[in-house]
Amino acid sequence: MAVIVQKFGGTSVANAEKIRAAAQRAVDAKRRGFDVVVVVSARGHKTDELIDLAHGITKNPRPREMDMLLSTGEQESVALMAMAVHELGEDAISLTGAQIGVLTDTTHTKARIVSISTQRMQELLKAGNIVIAAGFQGVDSSMNITTLGRGGSDTTATALAAVLNAELCEIYTDVEGVFTTDPRVVPSARKVERISYDEMLEMASLGAGVMHSRSIEFAKKYQVQLRVRPAYSDGPGTLIAPESDAANSVVTGVAFVRNEALVTLVGLPDQPGVMSSLFTSLSAARIPVDMVVQNVAREGFANVSFTVAEDELPAAMKVINETARQLNAQNIEQTTGLSKVSVVGHGMQTHTGVAARMFHVLAEAGINIRVVTTSEIKISVLIDRDHCSRAVETVHKGFGLDQPTRPLPDVGYVATDRHAGQGSGSEVVADIVSRLDGMESILVSDVSADKEQSRVTISALPDDPGVAEAVFTAIAEGGVLVDMIIQNAARDGRATISLTVPSGDLDRSILLLREVLERYTGSQLTTDRHIGKLSIAGIGLRSHTDVGRRVFRTLAENRINVQMINTSEIKLSIVISESECDRALKLLRAEFGLAQG
Ligand code: ADP
Ligand code: ASP
Ligand code: MG
Repeated sequence: MAVIVQKFGGTSVANAEKIRAAAQRAVDAKRRGFDVVVVVSARGHKTDELIDLAHGITKNPRPREMDMLLSTGEQESVALMAMAVHELGEDAISLTGAQIGVLTDTTHTKARIVSISTQRMQELLKAGNIVIAAGFQGVDSSMNITTLGRGGSDTTATALAAVLNAELCEIYTDVEGVFTTDPRVVPSARKVERISYDEMLEMASLGAGVMHSRSIEFAKKYQVQLRVRPAYSDGPGTLIAPESDAANSVVTGVAFVRNEALVTLVGLPDQPGVMSSLFTSLSAARIPVDMVVQNVAREGFANVSFTVAEDELPAAMKVINETARQLNAQNIEQTTGLSKVSVVGHGMQTHTGVAARMFHVLAEAGINIRVVTTSEIKISVLIDRDHCSRAVETVHKGFGLDQPTRPLPDVGYVATDRHAGQGSGSEVVADIVSRLDGMESILVSDVSADKEQSRVTISALPDDPGVAEAVFTAIAEGGVLVDMIIQNAARDGRATISLTVPSGDLDRSILLLREVLERYTGSQLTTDRHIGKLSIAGIGLRSHTDVGRRVFRTLAENRINVQMINTSEIKLSIVISESECDRALKLLRAEFGLAQG
């Protein structure tokens, strides 16, 4: 019989009445002929309350005991949900993560799923039960209870849907579906009918809390059909599927992380191995980093900056202090009170001017941009936290996302689709997935190289709103499709912007830029016609810091210097010198077990 997985989030099971309503949905699905598996979260704010309780006892609870404690929230919910189903006249059995056989690794509070046994669930379903599974939890190989990280019930639900080969996985929550941005922050946000796995993965990873980003990794890897729906009405919700809605505009949504921190290692000897050391230590501590920016070295020294979620800063600093010592960094700087705002959408792969538009609306609102990074389908800016909500609202409006039909914004020259056919191909992915040793193991599906790009770096720019806009408007108006963009954290009031353009457009770009730069006395333009861009494609590449570790270790061991880095969940792009490109490509394909082309 066809299996359906229904997941109910905290607010959707907050009290007896809501639990009864959720149970009714499960019973309705069963009576429509489905085998039903229900995944539940802890009730209401239960998880937060348990965390507060623990902190009332100790500032540093041991992670193992935290997991023991937090898992009780979901255990309470499954029992209540089973009782509610019984009351409606159907059989149901509640199971904890351990009872299902959700085997995880041993990283308490951030565990990853290794495998799930389906036997017990299958038997119970066959016997006519609705299976009620506790979300967010598992058990390691020594029978210690583990949890998957905040919001992890979504991941339990998609993982169960994957192993049970479910027809559909429904995520019931407290909003109508996935919106163009958080509707609690921007009331004019609109519901999206359909969003692609890649866009949703990027949105979730960049802060859209409606879905746990790892759940989208599962959905993409195992092709699970996901629908995010309201628990309180019959709204159709949002479909998360392989392809995006053609009606979506150039930008599909705006995501933000309100509490982000910037760490800068100052005065590093400019040699291969810096990125490798950084990613190795952060990967061991399971701390995802974003907005990794390295400036072009001056007098043999380089600065490297990256961002982490502010609540991870203490843990990050612990490992970074040690790494900085090993690397002989002159200083480490930390900046808190920052927010990261990102626009996400497939459209920017083929439209110029998306960056210019974003920088334009922020400049108009007087919001200064501290750091910029991009990937194929997103642009992220780091700004002061005081401006976060206003920036999200401004950018949302600036791309017309508050309008019912979203026309392309004015600045939007359609370029040729040079990315067409570069997708990783679902058969290739399916083949690699079948060979993974754990369900959440890293998936790298391809490593490729592009030698047709050139780098432009503009340094000593004033650190004022409007400068990035001027630079990118000039380039966009010339119809040049910019690929990677990085703006460094300014030092001494001066900022640096690096970008890559197709080599054939380099001369035109230089002309366009020279004109703009006349406005900024002291600014300098340097170019490198001969760069190589390496692209590592896969799923979950940013959250699984281990991919970065392996890439940078491979390059460092072979004395290959990294010039620019862009990360997203589906692609890691790295600029190196063109002369080392073929060698690097070979080494990286070997590192990830990919055939040499
Ligand atoms: P649940 O307890 O059901 O898992 P969450 O609180 O984890 O619910 O997720 C739902 C919330 O996510 C919404 O109430 C909304 O405020 C927030 N959210 C953030 N970004 C978005 C977005 N792009 N679309 C919809 N909701 C969003
Ligand atoms: N109860 C957990 C949390 O609050 C898991 C979840 O709700 O998805 O983070
Ligand atoms: Mg949630």
